[in-house]
Amino acid sequence: MPALEVADLSFRYGRKEALKGVSFAVQPGEFCALLGPNGAGKSTLFALLTRLFVARQGRIAVMGQDLQQAPRAALAQMGVVFQQMTLDLDLSVARNLAYFGALHGLSRRESAARAQEVLERLDMAERAGEKARDLNGGHRRRLEIARALMHRPRLLLLDEPTVGLDARARAAITAHVHALAREDGLAVLWATHLVDEVSPDDTVLILHHGEILQTGQARDIAPENGLAAHFMALTEDAAA
Ligand code: ADP
Repeated sequence: MPALEVADLSFRYGRKEALKGVSFAVQPGEFCALLGPNGAGKSTLFALLTRLFVARQGRIAVMGQDLQQAPRAALAQMGVVFQQMTLDLDLSVARNLAYFGALHGLSRRESAARAQEVLERLDMAERAGEKARDLNGGHRRRLEIARALMHRPRLLLLDEPTVGLDARARAAITAHVHALAREDGLAVLWATHLVDEVSPDDTVLILHHGEILQTGQARDIAPENGLAAHFMALTEDAAA
């Protein structure tokens, strides 16, 4: 069963068609890079996947649970890292996670145990007592990812998770999330316009003007570092 299944999804803002019959699936353990230039429809797709918007046409299922018919069951399997920060900067790293655990109905003890687990997974355990405000941008992002894993989702959605980070922090986060897919079997949907975040084994979905132009393994779509040129050529009418 796919972790995420999207079938014939369309969405319009008034007369503007932002998504046109989008279909794809992400399997457990698969890192799927959603590549699209600005305006492609990535944020719209994320808004639909997280139920910020409701689609009038199409179907979304998470671990077989229909998002429209069984939203609680579907959302329970989903962790989301939004572009906007969701941390409370005045709380410690551990308190930020405990707070999120409480929101998900975890007991204090369970929440603390999971906080420890997710921090270790993101190589952040030694920062549990630090105030979120004192973390650098890369560590704040890693804490956001840790938070999104607190309820043990099977699908992780990340909307341009490296925006504003320096090269080293970007590389660390990209590597961590690839490891979550490879080692923990998490299904990952990673939206970006930065082709260098994609590994050869990743699945690539190229979204442009609300349509999926191409899908496949990165290594098959474009050999040896050719993905950037390929992506630019496919989406060349996008505003620079
Ligand atoms: P991306 O996240 O890939 O940059 P978006 O999902 O934000 O793309 O936008 C997809 C298309 O929908 C774009 O053409 C954009 O201008 C349009 N759009 C986005 N939000 C709105 C809105 N609130 N009203 C009208 N058009 C919108």
